[in-house]
Amino acid sequence: MAADVLRDVLVPEVLFGAAPADLPREDGCLRGDLMIEDGRVAGMRRGETGTPRVVMPALVEAHCHLDKCHTIHRMQGIGGNLREAIEAQVEDKALWTEDDLRARIGRGMDEAIAAGCGLLRTHVDWLEGLDLPPAWHVIAEAAGDRPGLKVDRSALIGVDILAEPGAADRVARDIAATGGTLGAFVLDHDGREAGMRAVLEAGATYGLTLDFHMDEGLEDGLDGLGLLAELMIGMGYQGPVLCGHCCSLMNVEGDALDRLLEKVAQAGIFVAALPTTNLYLQGRGAGTPDRRGLTRLRELDAAGVPIVVASDNVADAFCPTGFHDPMGALNLAVLTGHLDPPFARWLPSVTTNAARALGRAPVLVNGAAVGDLRISAARDLPGLVSGRLGPLATVAAAEMEHRSI
Ligand SMILES: [Zn+2]
Repeated sequence: MAADVLRDVLVPEVLFGAAPADLPREDGCLRGDLMIEDGRVAGMRRGETGTPRVVMPALVEAHCHLDKCHTIHRMQGIGGNLREAIEAQVEDKALWTEDDLRARIGRGMDEAIAAGCGLLRTHVDWLEGLDLPPAWHVIAEAAGDRPGLKVDRSALIGVDILAEPGAADRVARDIAATGGTLGAFVLDHDGREAGMRAVLEAGATYGLTLDFHMDEGLEDGLDGLGLLAELMIGMGYQGPVLCGHCCSLMNVEGDALDRLLEKVAQAGIFVAALPTTNLYLQGRGAGTPDRRGLTRLRELDAAGVPIVVASDNVADAFCPTGFHDPMGALNLAVLTGHLDPPFARWLPSVTTNAARALGRAPVLVNGAAVGDLRISAARDLPGLVSGRLGPLATVAAAEMEHRSI
């Protein structure tokens, strides 16, 4: 019998699945030869060692904004807080023709593919009224041209609009008909509780995945995450529900934080940290910032809340730099959020946790199709996370050795 073999690889154990006990372990990784039969991983064996490379599932970009990306070059005087960024981006929307959207969305998707992504969720701004915006179908067309990247679209609408009678149901019906996720922007809106309830009810009616831009600020009074958790527990809501940002968790500590995180864990909410945009927009004053805009990643993780890390805005009013690369976002989260080694424990935030947050089955290396894997020239996880040895690539047939077993 013959099999293809990918020699001397490191696979983060948390991303492998069931593994033989006798395989060598190094820094949270299994080390050995990956056995491939009929295009799928059929186990791992001890092998000769040389210079290893890291193999893992394709990355998941769980939160970005392809309709906004790569607009920074046509904006003036950027450098404000979240509300100023929203105003600047509103002005730019006058330029969002279908051709403009197609070019920028395609560029964003190609960046994600080059970074090793196999699945991506982009938020899509709703424009006037409740109708699907033009970017909704432009994204579907661009995704159709790139079969290696699965793309999920999530509505981004003010929660106060969705609180109006019938609005959430109307939007959810269109999303269910075209495929996608129902989402809302939740800040200090008066109608936030009613709006989140309407989103949950519409999500349950149409069987949709949900995604909230939640509490994106360090000011007092942003309490949406706790309200959502209570609503979900009260309704017995079954997810998946992903909340991005949750910056205002930084204002809660001690027993109050413990009680809040317990509720979030009980509700089954996933929380996404979005370091680039949060570092750029939050904690702004006249001088150099002395507060970080990140959410409480370490406390959430310790409380059993699955955490996700993603790229968010790229070269737009909300973040003037960046690229669509979840591993780059994780590298930033490591440094700014003190996500200490061993790094294997944080890799689910850009792979398996992120997939489950999007309502997709997570890919584990054992049993995966070769096309769903990525390989890095990095010889260890610090090298992988730093990204300095180049992006994660698909596994080329030439890299495998055909061998009798
Ligand atoms: Zn966002």
